[in-house]
Amino acid sequence: MTKSSKKLSLHIGSEIWLKNFSFSQLILKVKRLFDCEGIPGFVKMMVILVEGMLIKSGTECPRCNSNKLQLHDKCGKKMKTSIGCVDLVSSRMKCTACKKTFSPMMRLFDVDPFSRKSREFEKLTLETVTNQIFRRSAKNLNDTMRFSMGHTTL
Ligand SMILES: [Zn+2]
Repeated sequence: MTKSSKKLSLHIGSEIWLKNFSFSQLILKVKRLFDCEGIPGFVKMMVILVEGMLIKSGTECPRCNSNKLQLHDKCGKKMKTSIGCVDLVSSRMKCTACKKTFSPMMRLFDVDPFSRKSREFEKLTLETVTNQIFRRSAKNLNDTMRFSMGHTTL
């Protein structure tokens, strides 16, 4: 994967707001995006689009409800998900009234700012581990006590 192809999702997410961006361009770009970055790239593009709409629609400061916000910076974060690693890019806004900084997109999606795993990924991991433990325990019981028990009965 080349460096420029990795940024394709970023480009589409921002190019779509241009006046002369057509449906045909969208199809061609999404096709290229899928070829280069797969589903994680598509998710990244969607997140950028949602954030764009969120900021355009006018978001409020979570502390003082002021709508006088300015772009503070952009931060990237790699999240482990069940579809692979998703590179999330989010804008941090600064409230000019109370100086609080926050990311509207992270708040909307309820993403823990300190977590590197999505909640569905954590759930999947937990389920897999639990399942393994039950399977191993059932096998152990069957081996030592010589009675047959399925792992779901435990
Ligand atoms: Zn505020």
